[in-house]
Amino acid sequence: MTQEIHWVGENCAIKPQVSLGSLTSFRVGGPAEWLVFPRQLSDLQASLAWANQHRLPVTFLGAGSNLLISDRGLPGLVICTRHLRQAEFDDSQGRILAAAGEPLATLAWKAAKRGWQGLEWAVGIPGTVGGAVVMNAGAHGACTADILISAGVLDTDGNCSQLSPETLGFQYRTSLLQGNSRLVTQAVLQLKPGAERQTVMAATAADLEQRRNTQPYHLPSCGSVFRNPKPHSAGWLIEQAGLKGYQIGHAQVSTQHANFILNCGGATASDILRLIRHVQHQVETRWSLPLKPEVKILGEFQLA
Ligand SMILES: Cc1cc2nc3c(=O)[nH]c(=O)nc-3n(C[C@H](O)[C@H](O)[C@H](O)COP(=O)(O)OP(=O)(O)OC[C@H]3O[C@@H](n4cnc5c(N)ncnc54)[C@H](O)[C@@H]3O)c2cc1C
Repeated sequence: MTQEIHWVGENCAIKPQVSLGSLTSFRVGGPAEWLVFPRQLSDLQASLAWANQHRLPVTFLGAGSNLLISDRGLPGLVICTRHLRQAEFDDSQGRILAAAGEPLATLAWKAAKRGWQGLEWAVGIPGTVGGAVVMNAGAHGACTADILISAGVLDTDGNCSQLSPETLGFQYRTSLLQGNSRLVTQAVLQLKPGAERQTVMAATAADLEQRRNTQPYHLPSCGSVFRNPKPHSAGWLIEQAGLKGYQIGHAQVSTQHANFILNCGGATASDILRLIRHVQHQVETRWSLPLKPEVKILGEFQLA
């Protein structure tokens, strides 16, 4: 296939060899063999049909805030949803219909400004609505599954369907949509309208401030790297293993919050994965507990 731009819609270009580094919150990752930013459902369907026609694997990318993409990049077509933005508020039912690429934090502020409760916890999560559904993103004991009424999904043949939360197998930071070939196109969320605008705004701002005081937001990361092996906290186990500040290449275990790995400038994806493996090994040796990554690791890695 020729390495040139392929147009699959009026404003929808599939481009070859586009770096993914700037599209992930870790700021690492090699090129996508092909990359597209659909703006509407028909663009998504045309992009999937194009990938099928050329027998290419497809990877979905939201805000890239929970991804570690290999320095070698990704084969096939990467579909980035972040231009699929829309949020409709239904005042009669207290529901939001949000497109997959709508930033979760923006949605939390929009809800707060209306005096709608139920999304305050999401204000510091730099992902999209689609990514939040797939990951069952959450904080402070609340999560996406608690407020999801339905998710619109598209299968690889371009067929749309609406799925109820009961069918999505939600658990702590996971759902059946993970590693699945279905793309989340939109979600309907149930909130609680009717509160004082100032009260919800203050709760939302307080959540953000608390995060900024306890988590390192000043350098690129993916948030918490490991799932908490309940009842333990991954951060506590890593800290007790003496790994705060431990560095490989330009990747460092945060000194502020040990479950964060930071790109201190110029880290490679391989630096980060080596550090992940080192932390896992040390915690396993000391506590006999396996730490499972929460971050999705994509692409091929060759660690010496
Ligand atoms: C500073 C920081 C703080 C964070 N704090 C939290 C937190 O408190 N709680 C929390 O849960 N997470 C947190 N995260 C992690 C991350 O923001 C969430 O997991 C978020 O839900 C990921 O959304 P995303 O759009 O970035 O998804 P991506 O990282 O782009 O993708 C994640 C996975 O979902 C898939 N995916 C993405 N969009 C779609 C779609 N539309 N359809 C199908 N599959 C899709 C991808 O293929 C991938 O497997 C934090 C991250 C950072 C950087």
